Amino acid sequence: MTAPDAGRPATGAAVARPAGSRPGASAAVGIAVLGSTGSIGTSALKVLARQRDRFRVVALTAFGQRERLEAQVAAFHPAFVAMVQGGSGNGWHSGHRSLVEAATRPDVGIVLNGIVGAAGLEATLAALQAGKRVALANKETLVMAGELVMRTARESGGEIVPVDSEHSAVLQCVAGRRPADVARLILTASGGPFHAWDAERVRHATVEEALNHPTWRMGRKITVDSATLANKALEVIEAHFLFDLPYDRIEAVVHPQSVIHSFVEFVDGSVLAQLGFPNMELPILYALTHPERLPDGGVTRFDPVAAGPLTFEPVRTEVFPALALGMLAGRTGGSAPAAFNAANEVAVGAFLGGRAPFGRIAEVIERVLEEQIVTEAAGLDEVLAADAWARRRAAELLGCS
Ligand code: NAD
Ligand code: MG
Repeated sequence: MTAPDAGRPATGAAVARPAGSRPGASAAVGIAVLGSTGSIGTSALKVLARQRDRFRVVALTAFGQRERLEAQVAAFHPAFVAMVQGGSGNGWHSGHRSLVEAATRPDVGIVLNGIVGAAGLEATLAALQAGKRVALANKETLVMAGELVMRTARESGGEIVPVDSEHSAVLQCVAGRRPADVARLILTASGGPFHAWDAERVRHATVEEALNHPTWRMGRKITVDSATLANKALEVIEAHFLFDLPYDRIEAVVHPQSVIHSFVEFVDGSVLAQLGFPNMELPILYALTHPERLPDGGVTRFDPVAAGPLTFEPVRTEVFPALALGMLAGRTGGSAPAAFNAANEVAVGAFLGGRAPFGRIAEVIERVLEEQIVTEAAGLDEVLAADAWARRRAAELLGCS
């Protein structure tokens, strides 16, 4: 989603849509699902299994879950399969380059990027350069290289459509409207499992407690990010790049039921929101069909009574410092978001591995950001250098270098 301008609807990156990906086109659009064995990947395949007339799975990639990938291959018969680690044999591809191969195949119209972390960057850039639509769940790479990714989309004719539920909600509210009419975004946050805990208890939360998310079932890394609220910082930065809005017009509010996926306020004071039970299948389908919609019998129909009372609370920034740190990194710009993301990835890995207490995640991020010499980070080399430095420094601080 490039800078909205008056003549173009605020529909996200939308430069030119890749041939064959037009929702109205008759032939089934080829889809590459990167990270197919993960939470987003498996949800995407559930959606795609219901939409075989419109979409065809032509490529699947995973990191190393052989059995799960084998079952997916048996169900979808993709032309291209890659397992990054140890994948060769039975015609499968392997190695990091295989992600780029999957993302740039001529028979692929849309790349669903469900890889977790920085490993997804190269494939997104390559897909955009090849003029594909990227249905992007892999938010870390937009945070680490937002300028570069958006510039690549603008210059190449590729397109980014968000999968993240909050950004999908915003896109659904602004689609077809003039960008100049948008005043403010309010992203909702579940608050994670600790939203009502006191600060001391949060600092010493266990891995099991952090992984016990109240409303969403997701991969381990994003689940911990939701518990620290680093996820909301990543999403504010993601929204800044996707919708080209300054940080003082993007806010977060805690909404424990995860039914309203975000609000958009317009210049006349009117506010639109998008609602639904927490399930990623809907935003995944919308990222494939935007700006159109397809009937989908698999989605649980909304029931306002069953949704129950919807409540909102301010974010307790003093208990969840990762949000303010990430927003500061976003406002600082340049290589700061890349350092924020990298430090967070390393610290979350240490927490999940039992090598750091929960409270250490934000402390490590803070130290890395304090010590970082911020650069412009306009090109890939600079982004990767900032990422590598922050990873190294975070590991040193955690005593695991
Ligand atoms: P996950 O851990 O469940 O799945 C990650 C997938 O990426 C797996 O298929 C894994 O094999 C693959 N992968 C991991 N490391 C890799 C590497 N180095 N190279 C190639 N492939 C690799 O994660 P998830 O919860 O599905 O999240 C994926 C992305 O989507 C994250 O960026 C997350 O923030 C974002 N997201 C997830 C949800 C959700 O509901 N799960 C919602 C919004 C956004
Ligand atoms: Mg989200």
